[in-house]
Amino acid sequence: MTPEAETAARLAETQLRIALAAEAAGRAAADVRLIVVSKTFGAAEIIPVLAAGQRIFGENRVQEAKAKWPALKAEYPNLELHLIGPLQSNKAKEAVELFDAIHSIDREKIARALAEEMKKQGRRLELFVQVNTGEEPQKAGVPPSELPTLLALCRDELQLEITGLMCIPPVDEEAALHFAFLAKLAAENGLAGLSMGMSDDFETAVAFGATHVRVGSAIFGSRPNP
Ligand SMILES: *Cc1c(COP(=O)(O)O)cnc(C)c1O
Repeated sequence: MTPEAETAARLAETQLRIALAAEAAGRAAADVRLIVVSKTFGAAEIIPVLAAGQRIFGENRVQEAKAKWPALKAEYPNLELHLIGPLQSNKAKEAVELFDAIHSIDREKIARALAEEMKKQGRRLELFVQVNTGEEPQKAGVPPSELPTLLALCRDELQLEITGLMCIPPVDEEAALHFAFLAKLAAENGLAGLSMGMSDDFETAVAFGATHVRVGSAIFGSRPNP
């Protein structure tokens, strides 16, 4: 098989595994959206995935996405780009211009910057609040105890419509516990969206109600070390 055919086969396998996990959980496969995470990979690797029909992609850096995606967007309409990495408020303008969804709102300053930019640009993005479910000091995400306050600010003051919650479980802990916790937080706060599950645990995430899974290396192969 050519590398392109291998990538397409891994995409198809991932889609099948999502469908099977959904079926096992009594859910419709169509209720789980696959975000293909293309960070560190270039157009040569991404094009076979586009050619196979995939239109939802995730990137974790604004600058990298800006260098890569405008050309691909021009060629492939109906693309949906999701920012899944941390966002600095001075990049809010570029992020709102380029992305269709942002998964990493985790503090007031970012929420305010996004609200202002979306208003200025007349764009509505799909928005997720990232929760630091493991309360890891080095990790992005709002601490669970501060989530209600941040959501109230988004809803009541900024008129930001929040789709759901996102988490990245600690590497050394059972992901299922964090997925269940995130699902509980979403339910308590009346949110339907759950962005959770990566290459190693997306089937578990689907079992716990993920509506968006973010899968990179299972499709592209392992990333070069930074
Ligand atoms: C890189 C990344 C992923 C994808 O990780 P894989 O293990 O390669 O599937 C998912 N979510 C976030 C936030 C990421 O940064």
